[in-house]
Amino acid sequence: MAAPRDWLGTVEAEGIAGRQGSSGVEVVFPSDPATPAPLCPHGPTLLFVKVNQGKKGTRRFYACSACRDRKDCNFFQWEDEKLSGARLAAREAHNQKCQPPLSRMQCVERYVKFIELPLSQRKFCKECQQLLLPDDWEKHQEHRVVGDISITQLKRPSQLLYPLENKKTNAQYLFADRSCQFLVDLLSTLGFTRVLCVGTPRLHELIRLKASGEKKSNIKSLLLDIDFRYSQFYMEDSFCHYNMFNHHFFDGKAALEVCRTFLQEDKGEGVIMVTDPPFGGLVEPLAVTFKKLIAMWKEGQSQDSSQKELPIFWIFPYFFEFRIRQFFPSFCMLDYQLFHRTFICVDEAMKYGCMLEVDYDNHALYKHGKTGRKQSPVRIFTNIPPNKIILPSEEGYRFCPLCQRYVSLENQHCEHCNSCTSKDGRKWNHCFLCKKCVKPSWIHCSICSHCALPDHSCGGPKDGCFICGELDHKRSTCPNIATSKKVNKAVRKQKQRKSNKMKMGTTKGQSMNHTSVTRKKSRRERAHQYLCS
Ligand code: SAH
Ligand code: ZN
Ligand code: ZN
Ligand code: ZN
Ligand code: ZN
Repeated sequence: MAAPRDWLGTVEAEGIAGRQGSSGVEVVFPSDPATPAPLCPHGPTLLFVKVNQGKKGTRRFYACSACRDRKDCNFFQWEDEKLSGARLAAREAHNQKCQPPLSRMQCVERYVKFIELPLSQRKFCKECQQLLLPDDWEKHQEHRVVGDISITQLKRPSQLLYPLENKKTNAQYLFADRSCQFLVDLLSTLGFTRVLCVGTPRLHELIRLKASGEKKSNIKSLLLDIDFRYSQFYMEDSFCHYNMFNHHFFDGKAALEVCRTFLQEDKGEGVIMVTDPPFGGLVEPLAVTFKKLIAMWKEGQSQDSSQKELPIFWIFPYFFEFRIRQFFPSFCMLDYQLFHRTFICVDEAMKYGCMLEVDYDNHALYKHGKTGRKQSPVRIFTNIPPNKIILPSEEGYRFCPLCQRYVSLENQHCEHCNSCTSKDGRKWNHCFLCKKCVKPSWIHCSICSHCALPDHSCGGPKDGCFICGELDHKRSTCPNIATSKKVNKAVRKQKQRKSNKMKMGTTKGQSMNHTSVTRKKSRRERAHQYLCS
């Protein structure tokens, strides 16, 4: 029987109320699973069920937890499907074949050798995203190799590596410097001594840089990330190859113990988990994983501190607030807007040895309303009391004594709601008919008897937007969809106009990252044009 081919698109995002599209897919976590989930190259798969018009189908299937594009991992199995011994063996062989070329141990050994080399012999292959030892040079002769890799560069792998840009599986949105700096300062002000970085390679990097810098901080950091390329730059105690959608440690028990030891050190005192998952990711599997990490931390607690919670920063767009709070009711959403860097990053850019960063300060798309302040939908969700988290006045935040938290200047206290109600950084208006504050662009519609955009179609589609759950638009026109995509597109278009074409030789190398990078012809061409303009 054919697999439901369209399940991927619809898993893309969950709505504000966890609402699913008319033919979406939901993850199910059977409370008493009869059999363990089958394995794909990314660890245990997840059980999905197709949802049609709000009704759950009966036939469930297993698919990859990490890859939402079947091009990246095509695992598919009906829940009740029985596989022959031969097929199981073939699957096992495939899973083996997909593992990173080097073991964690080998990476560490190579790293140790690498730092002992004189500067002139320290090379990095941009195409394979790999640090090279003299024995490897020949194999990479034809590749774009950079030399003289300094210790400073080794300490900043997120600048040496190119961000993976595969939209569906692993889009790497690295923090802008200011946001990353803000986080590090905040963690240190709050007195944390250990940070478990789940999918935050740049934060990990900055914490470690500070710890080894002049004004030494004493914060330790452990990075858990699915991007295997990072294992070249860190010893076993500071990086684990990890899948946050199924809590899978690719290097088995030893890696799990590294994580456990880290969480339980000092009886669990002084540690915080910071995570910035891919935004397309499903909230529930993430919540399940975070609860497992919380449980691991709890095991190391003494009896008298059983009431305590593991401090967490979950970085995610504001329109997921409802969804996150369904799983973590004690979490609140801070008003601070975090920014990610936007790169135009393709293999060609890499061959040119340059990382193109789009400065969104210059771009009109990021300007919002009259204030002209650039906006980001990304917020921090946390169980730390918000009055302890001071937001910088230089960046436009103030303390609201009534709400006992820091909010953005535009976020005014509504005396009727008795709270600073804005969610998106703009000033919201109170509607007396709806008895709540609504977005500034909305007006009250007497036909629909709620507030909506002026040009909405009355009694229109009740399903609303799949991304933010609002009723006045569909997913394709959602203002909340990754703004960076739009910027990229706009910048490309703009540059295309000015561009002239140029030929470039392409030599394909064996890629080291096992999460694949998109290599589309059209994108390549656009990159040429961008680079040459
Ligand atoms: N803003 C962060 C990066 C966030 S991008 C920073 O600057 O540090 C999302 C990160 O999650 C990437 O590093 C990506 O490699 C990682 N990631 C994506 N899917 C993952 C998965 N299934 N398990 C673990 N990490 C994952
Ligand atoms: Zn997979
Ligand atoms: Zn109000
Ligand atoms: Zn209204
Ligand atoms: Zn929307």
